[in-house]
Amino acid sequence: MKSVTKLIKPFLDVVFPATCVCCGASTEASGTSICNWCRYDRFERAEVTGKEILPAGVHFQFSLWFFDKGGYLQKLLHDLKYNFMMGAGEELGSLAGIEFLKSVDNNILTVLGEQTVMVVPVPLHRKKERERGYNQARAIAAGFSRTTGWKLTEKGVISREKRTKTQTGLSLADRSENLKNAFQINRKAHFHGAYAIIVDDVYTTGATSFEMAKALLEDGATGVAIVTVAKA
Ligand SMILES: [Zn+2]
Repeated sequence: MKSVTKLIKPFLDVVFPATCVCCGASTEASGTSICNWCRYDRFERAEVTGKEILPAGVHFQFSLWFFDKGGYLQKLLHDLKYNFMMGAGEELGSLAGIEFLKSVDNNILTVLGEQTVMVVPVPLHRKKERERGYNQARAIAAGFSRTTGWKLTEKGVISREKRTKTQTGLSLADRSENLKNAFQINRKAHFHGAYAIIVDDVYTTGATSFEMAKALLEDGATGVAIVTVAKA
């Protein structure tokens, strides 16, 4: 297999040159899907403000960057959703993990260090996942799990049972109604006594992750946090 890769590699470089999936610059030097400029300098860091209004049991929300409407990040997240970009998703998740450990309050890290922490990507409805070929939130969560060392929850433990209409343009209340009981835990008490970190691509009103948090808390999670790549 390796020799085949070696043989076709020069060909692949001609057809698919090593360029950043975000801005198109060469990634020859970094060997990554996303160039160093996009990873470290292009986007505005979303600091942990603590100002979000979160439901009971949801302790904090962390995003790597602020969403840039019409910009590179919006395009990147769109491509991530529809273009099967596992590698880029994992890179974003790894980066989010590193920044999370750097910027989150020490008290929080102490609390997390005392318990079992589970990384839980927001599941897609199975039909939607089949259409797209993968779940971008799982790719991000895999990267996040790798750099934080917290366990990635297996696929299927929690599933999305409702195929929700598009959330765009709905108020938070309407979104919540739209999402009611959308998530189902298929392995009862799997999260009992564990701290759950929900991972998704974008945090907008929080409606999706709040509904998911409800299911995790009902299953016995001690607390929930939300981590995303971008925050609108
Ligand atoms: Zn770039």
